[in-house]
Amino acid sequence: MLDGLVELIRTAVVRLPPDVTAALEAALAAEEEELAALQLRLMLENAARAEELGVPLCQDTGVPVFFLRGEWGEVEPLLAEAVRRATEQVPLRPCIVHPLSRENTGDNTGAHVPVVHRIPGGERSVSFMPKGAGSENCSAAAPLPPSAGAGEIAGFVADVVRRAGAKPCPPVVLGVGIGGTLEHAALLSKLALLLPLGTESEEPALAELERRILREVNSLGIGPMGFGGRCTCLGVRVLSAHCHTASLPVAVSLQCWAHRRATLVERDGSWEVVQP
Ligand code: SF4
Repeated sequence: MLDGLVELIRTAVVRLPPDVTAALEAALAAEEEELAALQLRLMLENAARAEELGVPLCQDTGVPVFFLRGEWGEVEPLLAEAVRRATEQVPLRPCIVHPLSRENTGDNTGAHVPVVHRIPGGERSVSFMPKGAGSENCSAAAPLPPSAGAGEIAGFVADVVRRAGAKPCPPVVLGVGIGGTLEHAALLSKLALLLPLGTESEEPALAELERRILREVNSLGIGPMGFGGRCTCLGVRVLSAHCHTASLPVAVSLQCWAHRRATLVERDGSWEVVQP
């Protein structure tokens, strides 16, 4: 299991998932601005070279975040050990520091790090999503007025992306969580980032909201790495929960073009790493 977890981390940081590669290729095919097209070409070349050389595709190997589905016992120590080994073996850049002293732990672990979310139900699996600081620093959550509809939610998300500008290394991927409580909306926004690009919600109102946010964000003109052009956002997914009649929490998690994630699934008694 430990070797499988190290391989999960290695795959996530080295290999851009196929759905992201396809989205970048589609954006490049549609791009008319020379500088924007150049950025997209460089991203694709960067990803191809990283995979060829077996090295991380970005120097920021992020905060280690795991999502456990199904029934698991006390696996947190094992996940932390996998992060320590991956830090040495891949290697990962030591990114984790004390929040006040800023002292680096040196092995990408610390209090409550790796971050572990448990998702009840479903088949047993472990997803890993290293979260880079450039995009995470631009994520936001807010209690919107309960009367805010799709228009105001889309406006809130577009405004977060507009204010972020080039900082999250666009084109971004957006995970949006609506409803629940504020921390629940934030978790939903992270879970939305695990969903494959090119898919949409099965709930028509949420699918329409995803398309609306994508339209509004892509009309901002920020473009790849802030160089303008058609593509500021590769995809949007929204997950929702019911909420109190007097509240409407909304959270948006920004992810950069290096939208790294991989999942360890159990198949025929052994563990296999898959990517969307
Ligand atoms: S935001 Fe993403 S692409 Fe930019 S430096 Fe951080 S991890 Fe790398």
